[in-house]
Amino acid sequence: MSGAVNGAVSGDRVVVALDVGGTGMKCALVRPDGVAVRTERHPTDAARGPAAVIDTILDVADGLIGKARADGLTPVAIGIAVPGVVDEARGVAVWSANVGFRDVPLRDLAVTRLGLPTALGHDVRVGGLAEARLGAGRGADHVLFVAIGTGIAAAHVVDGVAAVGAHGAAGEIGHIMVRPDGPRCGCGRPGCLEAIASAAAIGRRYTELAGDGAEQTPGAAVTAAMVAERAAAGEPLAARVWQEAVEALADGLATGQALFDVSTIVLGGGLAQAGDGLLGPLRAALHERMTFHREPRLVAAALGDEAGCLGAALLALDAAGVRDTDAARVLDHQEER
Ligand SMILES: [Zn+2]
Repeated sequence: MSGAVNGAVSGDRVVVALDVGGTGMKCALVRPDGVAVRTERHPTDAARGPAAVIDTILDVADGLIGKARADGLTPVAIGIAVPGVVDEARGVAVWSANVGFRDVPLRDLAVTRLGLPTALGHDVRVGGLAEARLGAGRGADHVLFVAIGTGIAAAHVVDGVAAVGAHGAAGEIGHIMVRPDGPRCGCGRPGCLEAIASAAAIGRRYTELAGDGAEQTPGAAVTAAMVAERAAAGEPLAARVWQEAVEALADGLATGQALFDVSTIVLGGGLAQAGDGLLGPLRAALHERMTFHREPRLVAAALGDEAGCLGAALLALDAAGVRDTDAARVLDHQEER
């Protein structure tokens, strides 16, 4: 593995990165400094079943390797991010409802077929890795990345490494109980953070309280983004639902801060696109909850939906022993000062 890296001329090495989601795959060839030199998107088409999805992943990676070589680049490693429960140490996609994976040894399959060192990661953890090393958390050594979308999950990144947990399931901040008498979560327990403050939960709650009047178009659900807009426009019901979600999030983040004592919390996922409409009230609510804990900086994610793909690239670079991104990071630090 290190032979391939050392044998390449510095500057022409790239890694192959794939972020596999329930509907699509974001793929790229990424240089050691974190710059994507080629990006592609492919449908996952998960309804075809796990075996077909695995074939597509390997075909797409194989295609990118060929394109890199055709461009005179040297692919040195592969990074693949998938959702669900991921055992990164064994390279196994343990469980993923979105993609239909159950105990898929994806790393070994890739190594066997493609012949390059391969790292497998969890989509939110690698997204957090990218935000911590290249995005909104850059320069901070202790970062909590929280992705708020259909669900809520987090990645705790210390010195550029995301904690995986003993079973590949670290960071499930969405299942912290914040309202014991709250709505039941998809996991089966009542009052989980994501049952109240995920984008899906916010839209659902608003629709519930508003009754039939909530929908602009018959049959179209009210989204969290619409609730955010209406709250900003001063609609009392939207403001109430939004504030409920903010308070629940603040409870969850305060618990996160009690556990991890980070310097920066980066908010990503769809809900973070509400920008200051979320960050403003959330900063205030979190501030109220800090007693002896130091208050973290609360910022919006910077890499958007590229974070997972870039994070998969970082895993691949780490697997190949290429740490040029750290050099870039140190240089950036110096420039900021
Ligand atoms: Zn739950």
